[in-house]
Amino acid sequence: MSIETYGLDVVKAKRIRKAPKPVTRGVSVLLPMDGSNGVIEIRVGKVLDTYHVCRVPSDFGAAFRVEKFGGNSYDVCLYAPEGHLCDCIAHQHRGICRHVQSLVALDRAGKLS
Ligand SMILES: [Zn+2]
Repeated sequence: MSIETYGLDVVKAKRIRKAPKPVTRGVSVLLPMDGSNGVIEIRVGKVLDTYHVCRVPSDFGAAFRVEKFGGNSYDVCLYAPEGHLCDCIAHQHRGICRHVQSLVALDRAGKLS
């Protein structure tokens, strides 16, 4: 008597993925707002960027220009009728960005006045 062997269906093993590490995000005040100007530092993960923040006149909400040291500048308007606004690429694509998040956090902490 011979022993028969049958092939088994190939089942692809599920790949076990590690949960992504949470990204550390935060904003620090390097130079407090003196009424219209200040300097902040925004951290997203290992990336740390320093910005000059300047309050600018606006017909609605609270408007600021944030200028990255050695980089671009962006116009941010908080509490606009259609929500928070920023003209950076991230905000255009996702509707949220580090600039808006940072200024909202600072405003809630009373650091923008
Ligand atoms: Zn932005």
